[in-house]
Amino acid sequence: MVAAQVWADIPGDAGEIRPPDVATRPVDLISELAKPWQAGGAIALYATADGEPRAGRLASPPRDADEELARREEHFALARKINLVTVPAVPGIALPLDQAQIDLLRRFALSDAGAVWFREVADDTLRLFNQGYLEYDEPSWRAAVAGGESLRLSALLTGRLSEAGLFSQEVALFRIFAFEGTGAMAAAASVRLGLRGFRCRFPLSDELVDPQAVLSHEFGHTRYGDPRSAGLSHGEALTVARYENPVRLRNGYPPRGVYYLRIDASSPTFSRDALLARALAWWHGRDDGQGAPPPHGLYCDCGESQPDPRECRFDQNVSNGSGCVPRWLAIEVRPPEP
Ligand SMILES: [Zn+2]
Repeated sequence: MVAAQVWADIPGDAGEIRPPDVATRPVDLISELAKPWQAGGAIALYATADGEPRAGRLASPPRDADEELARREEHFALARKINLVTVPAVPGIALPLDQAQIDLLRRFALSDAGAVWFREVADDTLRLFNQGYLEYDEPSWRAAVAGGESLRLSALLTGRLSEAGLFSQEVALFRIFAFEGTGAMAAAASVRLGLRGFRCRFPLSDELVDPQAVLSHEFGHTRYGDPRSAGLSHGEALTVARYENPVRLRNGYPPRGVYYLRIDASSPTFSRDALLARALAWWHGRDDGQGAPPPHGLYCDCGESQPDPRECRFDQNVSNGSGCVPRWLAIEVRPPEP
């Protein structure tokens, strides 16, 4: 590939265009936030010898906060085109985001922590584009090349996969979409936001919810962070320490000290969570410790006459008439190892 000409969004000399960084994951958010800038190099388009468009990044750091902001805006514009579900797609699975959710995501993308995550999402887009998997507006590209005009990648992409992309096994688009419910969830290739919004306070701990910190937490469960951490007691506590508390501190919220893992009675994930398995074994009287309390707090729902969850007591279970059911496991959040 030959860099025939550069169309950068920034004036002056464009410098050298590099291909998108090879992903170094999981993202180390704490060290990223300690750096002066978070968005990475400006995205630049160039033409191959055949006249095909390719995308890379300029090595130079932004000159000032406005330039950094422009890079963050472009990353969000790319995400909006490629990753955000904004129209009904697959009914019942990926609901479209509403305007309040899109606004929240934009504010997050323009923040320091969000800039780190959306840079990672954009790098995926650059790689897919350079592989020919994303459809682009060919007349616009030819006009820009002929006229030597500046063109943003977010304006060049149509938002659809190319024919090659549609039939490729390599394309696993990261998606952000809505679900019927409260709060947020994540999987390796998606972040989902509840259409009923966020709670103001976390259950049990009563700590205030910072929606941006929750978004960073959820990104921590995706392929840009550690996808094996979701739903596991130690993984969740580590996610709070590495990805949620750094954002809370920046936004003026105290760090969370305890993570309460909600116990879903129908979920089969218990078997891969040693701590939760031990707590439930204790509750069911099968623990080696013969009635010794679990290593972290186990909280029970004890029926409608006692609406507040309370610490489970082994003797309640032995008597078997308490009506108490384990609902939450409390895990201490420790600062991450340096
Ligand atoms: Zn989580």
